[in-house]
Amino acid sequence: MKVTFPHLGTMHIFCKAIAETSGIPYIVPPETSRRTLTLGVQHSNECICLPFKMILGNFIEALQMGADTIVMVGSGPPCRLGLYDLVQKVILEDMGLRYRWLTIPPRLTWQAIWKNYEETKELKKELSWKNILLFPYGLRMGWKKMMACEALEKLAMKVRPREVQKGETQKRLKKALSGVDEARTLRTLNDALQKGRTLLQETGQDFSRVPLKIAIVGELYTVMDPHINRGVEQKLGELGAEVTRTSWFSTHILRSLRKNKADQNSERIRFFEASKAYLGYDVGAECNLSIGEAIVRSQEGYDGVVHLMPFACMPETTASGILTRVGKDWDIPILTLILDEQEIEGRIQTLLEAFIEMLQWKRKAA
Ligand code: SF4
Repeated sequence: MKVTFPHLGTMHIFCKAIAETSGIPYIVPPETSRRTLTLGVQHSNECICLPFKMILGNFIEALQMGADTIVMVGSGPPCRLGLYDLVQKVILEDMGLRYRWLTIPPRLTWQAIWKNYEETKELKKELSWKNILLFPYGLRMGWKKMMACEALEKLAMKVRPREVQKGETQKRLKKALSGVDEARTLRTLNDALQKGRTLLQETGQDFSRVPLKIAIVGELYTVMDPHINRGVEQKLGELGAEVTRTSWFSTHILRSLRKNKADQNSERIRFFEASKAYLGYDVGAECNLSIGEAIVRSQEGYDGVVHLMPFACMPETTASGILTRVGKDWDIPILTLILDEQEIEGRIQTLLEAFIEMLQWKRKAA
């Protein structure tokens, strides 16, 4: 058995940690590239959303490298993410690729547990007692690595707009993340996190700068994966903006486990409540939250919002129409970027530069 998983954001780091710590053989798909996207595009319906194509490309590359077991998160309606696993299975079978599939259920319902039981029945036969006994420790290691990656990424978002040498923070972040990836025990992971923090804090910074404050909202994979969004977070930081985002793997996992449901102060609940001024129901995925977060960030004095959405994304298309109104009502500039498989890196850079310049003028004029 050789398990594989999508190469999204820092997801491969913590998925690898779970497999490695539990002694389960794995294959990390190559870093998402033009080839990954081309493979995904070639074998998908052109109208399907971009994250679907990227993830399909990851799986094709991993299966070609010898992986035989795909682990993928599931979801429910109304978003298409709930159908990703069903459609991707059909495509991979049509391509003649051999694999087994394991869906991580988004909610622990009886139906999901039964589906999971059916999928894991055969797999369990290939696992040793050692694998099974080590699995809880593997999960703990994976969770700790995920939290370490997020802590470093959040710190980089603060350092980047003040860096003296453009690109220095990104280089240091990469090094810090590979330190986390290489850690094999909880103690060495802790050391790697501390070293990574120091490395980022030691970046040459100009503390006289007052960065613009920008929130990135939108479809979760598009917000979290720099390959899908063409490095929007890094670009904004290097243009002098301190970026915030609330989509992290940990937020979505805790939400699925319903861990922060009772926490009335949870940001997501605040955003959802704020969106009720424009929407009377839950549209699905991140739609309501994109709208609510734009309102809340305006109240908090943010300079602007960047809204990211894949082409043909149903929930975010609804959000983008309403956000035009929100921008006017709450006097907050909102830039919507629609991402597809076209080579749009240069266009995105130009749009972001123009947006930042406009925010700077607005700040000066205030
Ligand atoms: S939120 Fe949008 S992009 Fe994401 S899976 Fe749903 S429809 Fe596709």
